[in-house]
Amino acid sequence: MSLTIPYESLKTLNKPFETEFKTKFNNFLAHGWYILGNEVAVFEKDFAAYHHEKYAVGVANGLDALVLSLRCCNFPEGSEVIVPSNTYIASILAVLQCKLIPVFVEPDIQTYNLDPKKIEAAITAKTVAIMVVHLYGQCCEMDPILTITKKIKLKLIEDCAQAHGATYKGRLAGTFGDFAAFSFYPTKNLGALGDAGAVICKTESDYEILRQLRNYGSEKKYHNNLVGYNSRLDEIQASFLSIKLPYLDQINTHKIKLAGLYHEKLKETFIRPVVDQDFKHVYHIFNIRHPERDRIKSYLSDNGIGTEIHYPIAPHQQKALSAMNQMDFPLSSEIHSTTLSLPCSFAHTEADILHVIDLLNAYA
Ligand SMILES: *Cc1c(COP(=O)(O)O)cnc(C)c1O
Repeated sequence: MSLTIPYESLKTLNKPFETEFKTKFNNFLAHGWYILGNEVAVFEKDFAAYHHEKYAVGVANGLDALVLSLRCCNFPEGSEVIVPSNTYIASILAVLQCKLIPVFVEPDIQTYNLDPKKIEAAITAKTVAIMVVHLYGQCCEMDPILTITKKIKLKLIEDCAQAHGATYKGRLAGTFGDFAAFSFYPTKNLGALGDAGAVICKTESDYEILRQLRNYGSEKKYHNNLVGYNSRLDEIQASFLSIKLPYLDQINTHKIKLAGLYHEKLKETFIRPVVDQDFKHVYHIFNIRHPERDRIKSYLSDNGIGTEIHYPIAPHQQKALSAMNQMDFPLSSEIHSTTLSLPCSFAHTEADILHVIDLLNAYA
């Protein structure tokens, strides 16, 4: 049976922007400048300004945004970085790719974010940074985390790939850390029409280093100062992102409204993310938890509803992280075996969500 309500539809999601995309694309063809030009510079300026920050650097994707942030810190090989045990694997891969050691800390089972109370026990003499991940679109509880990073002088890196426009106590995700890494993968709350990413940083010197790292470590053509990467944001993607950035708050408001319906109407048996007035959750993902997750997923699928699982395998159980396969992260395992992501996209209508709710409540 074909799905009547897909989990996501990029075509529908981007429909409202199509005319503007086409105009931009025609200008782009007429202009003939494809890499690191005015479009990237304009988007960087506007993306920084959205965050009331000075420095943003466009890069190729979210993973690179994390890798370049870590590289910019120049940590000694083998240094330890605290990461949540239930994050998307990209956060961990970035740490490993920089020859650093990820140290997993368990999340709070109600917020799915790093539990600040568990961080200090994981800190050793080799700890150099905390990488917070604002998972599913909700900020981590930043006050106690900032207290720790200040007290122990650790770098703070924010993985904001799921949290464009989310706030904690009125302050935007991406403004807390020394570095904030964003992904504009097409499904993210601010999504390009291909791969794209950005780093927000706090100092001019980090800004200059990031700009070099993304472009072969070069400041001036054919003069290479650093062992850099090719991780440039394409002009065309930057131009599409500039069209969508002014609509980010509207996209988030729509997702928040849909999530509100789930919060209001779903039966209690479906565990929902906590709502707290200190946090503006932007619902990159609206997840529920239920012990019969797999049965519910098939039931919804049989009824034409697409769902996803973020994520089906906990990072410490992935083949790629075989050294961690024997370790035990019970909360992470519990989340991975019970979580289910429901439709909650800019592409969905309230009627779509009410239909999903009716089906779920009929299951319970
Ligand atoms: C999407 C995502 C990334 C990686 O972004 P890409 O643009 O796909 O490289 C990193 N961290 C988290 C939490 C993500 O959701």
